[in-house]
Amino acid sequence: MNTDNINDITLEDVMSYARENTDAIIVADGRTDTYKALARRGMFAEFLDKTGSYHDLIEKLWYHFNNSSDTVIEDYRVFIPTAGKFSGKYSRRINVSFEGVTHVVQMTVYPMVSEEVYILVLDELDGSQYVDETLTSKKVTTIQNTYLFSMYVDLIKDTTNSISITELSEDVQNQKLKYSEWRMMIVNMIGPDDQDIFLERTDPEYLKKNLAVGRTSSYDCLMMNLEGKYIWVKLIFRRAETNNPDDFRFVFMVQDIHESAEELMTALKTYEYLALKDPLTGIYNHRQLETEMENAIKGIISDQLIASMMILDIDYFKRVNDVYGHAAGDDALKHFAEVITAFIAGKNAVAGRWGGEEFVVICYDTDKDAAISTADALRRRIEDEPFDKIGHITCSIGVTLITAEDQINTAFERMDKAVYEAKSAGRNCVRAVFR
Ligand code: GH3
Ligand code: MG
Ligand code: MG
Repeated sequence: MNTDNINDITLEDVMSYARENTDAIIVADGRTDTYKALARRGMFAEFLDKTGSYHDLIEKLWYHFNNSSDTVIEDYRVFIPTAGKFSGKYSRRINVSFEGVTHVVQMTVYPMVSEEVYILVLDELDGSQYVDETLTSKKVTTIQNTYLFSMYVDLIKDTTNSISITELSEDVQNQKLKYSEWRMMIVNMIGPDDQDIFLERTDPEYLKKNLAVGRTSSYDCLMMNLEGKYIWVKLIFRRAETNNPDDFRFVFMVQDIHESAEELMTALKTYEYLALKDPLTGIYNHRQLETEMENAIKGIISDQLIASMMILDIDYFKRVNDVYGHAAGDDALKHFAEVITAFIAGKNAVAGRWGGEEFVVICYDTDKDAAISTADALRRRIEDEPFDKIGHITCSIGVTLITAEDQINTAFERMDKAVYEAKSAGRNCVRAVFR
């Protein structure tokens, strides 16, 4: 081509230049679901077959639109435009991952015949051409990661529009999916426990009744992501602002809130832990023991349960600290709590640290005799247990039965009296005080 004078350049020159330099030129026929590649250069020589199914081609490209692998789960196929119909000229840059490398490709579609026959032109851009694009697409990706997709729904016409995994993309998608059908497809991607509520809240009648004009409502649930893993998402519904009360169009959006939801769960667990557990030993703290005592009294009154309670006070624990140091004392307390936890495992009982070197165990289904024998079995378990560095320690145990007439303090006083008696009797023994 003679480029000395642009007046000499003809349309034919341009066409032949384009033909020699465009990476891929494809003609596709949606009616027969076939395509033919008229030009295939560079990676397209390998990526594209000479001929094939148009639908498969669109799917293949569609996956790359979203920059994900071919392992996109089957369910997400509902977001792929059916047979890739393009009503007008369409152009955008897509990321095509091929053999582990991402190529930025300009794709332009020219409909030729009746929205069914297209020319697709695919051209790979070199590095300098897409630096800006990459920056922009990074921004887009961030938003894509937050908003998985959105759509416009018309309940009266039962239609959906602009379904897009890529919130910001301006894809013309011409999705002709009915809302009622879409709902039944998407429910499979909702976490099993959340499916009923999803169906309830996406029910057209429910939405008509509960979503006033201009109102937004949302709720969180688990939804399968592109890799087939369940993530936390927020489903958002917004009824369009219109003056027509019979207009039931709304925007539906899915927002990825997984990370913040996980953080929230972790925070909740931490707060729960702080509220219920003793930080040193990890068993129930004083406050939770009181709650457990209250619950025991309530259960005795309402459900005719029987329950007993014991307090364990480590013998001469001050000496342990004095001889082996406070840290060794702490370790011993942790170990002591572990022995109690192991002892009550499988029993209908709860245990906690009352404070200092004192522990409380509440045992259900125990009468006087069982309460005493259980306490003595635990006492012996402690006696037999070797503790690191300090060797063996013992404890004195006070036992009582909780009755329907008890308050926390009346039951506690008997138990405290019992442990005092055990100390007076020489320690490492069980004493009981009943009402
Ligand atoms: P007794 O047989 O009469 O119960 O003797 P004792 O030494 O166990 O009783 P006392 O009530 O005189 O002392 C309890 C000791 O427990 C005092 C304190 O240093 C120790 N202690 C309380 N809380 C902790 C703790 O969190 N860590 C450690 N290392 N020691 C603790
Ligand atoms: Mg004590
Ligand atoms: Mg003690």
